[in-house]
Amino acid sequence: MPPAALLPAGAAPPAPATLAASEGFEAPPEASRTSAEPGGAARRYHIIVGDTCPVCRGAARISFPRERPPQIPVAGCREPGGCRCSLPIFAEELAAALATLDVLESETVHKHLWHLGTRLQEGVRAAIRHAGLGDWIVCGGAAPWTIVNVREPAFAGTALPAKTLIQQEMLKRGVLYNGSNFVCSAHTEDDIDEAIAAYGQAFARLAQALPDDVDALLEAAPVSQIFRMIAR
Ligand SMILES: [Zn+2]
Repeated sequence: MPPAALLPAGAAPPAPATLAASEGFEAPPEASRTSAEPGGAARRYHIIVGDTCPVCRGAARISFPRERPPQIPVAGCREPGGCRCSLPIFAEELAAALATLDVLESETVHKHLWHLGTRLQEGVRAAIRHAGLGDWIVCGGAAPWTIVNVREPAFAGTALPAKTLIQQEMLKRGVLYNGSNFVCSAHTEDDIDEAIAAYGQAFARLAQALPDDVDALLEAAPVSQIFRMIAR
């Protein structure tokens, strides 16, 4: 079951989901589903390890709760060094993926992401206009993955002082900026408004400094482009 916090209030637990076969693992057709334990919250996972030797593979071809994965290698294992089972971690990842899919199924996540992303884009674009930075900053991308890019002043070379100044000023206001803005299910309208406000104040600071005085407002060395020519 997904954590209670992921379920809408009063919602019935989602129906058991199908566990698809994944690379390195295979789930036989008769054992490819998860099911609720009698009266309990635990789910039983029916997974076999797909890349073990035939001897261990026989031992692992069983249903088991994720808390008790198959014990391999078994006596007679043909793998030099012995087959190993890393299933507990993998099962946790699958459980997280299943819980996420349950939420996607039971809640209007996509609508939420697009709604908040659109709100963010409209707010950031308004902030760009308000700061008079239309020639310097572009806000684009899909709404849930909004990208805010800034053009660097001519003196910058491989350094990114304008981006750094935005980063610096937004960080002071509790918002992490690196260009990409991923909206997630847990974000609220207040979060978006907080980000828009931080952008507005960072843009105002940048507008004071462009085009020649950006360095003067930096409180640390500017970030640089990752890929730089080091020889000609
Ligand atoms: Zn083995």
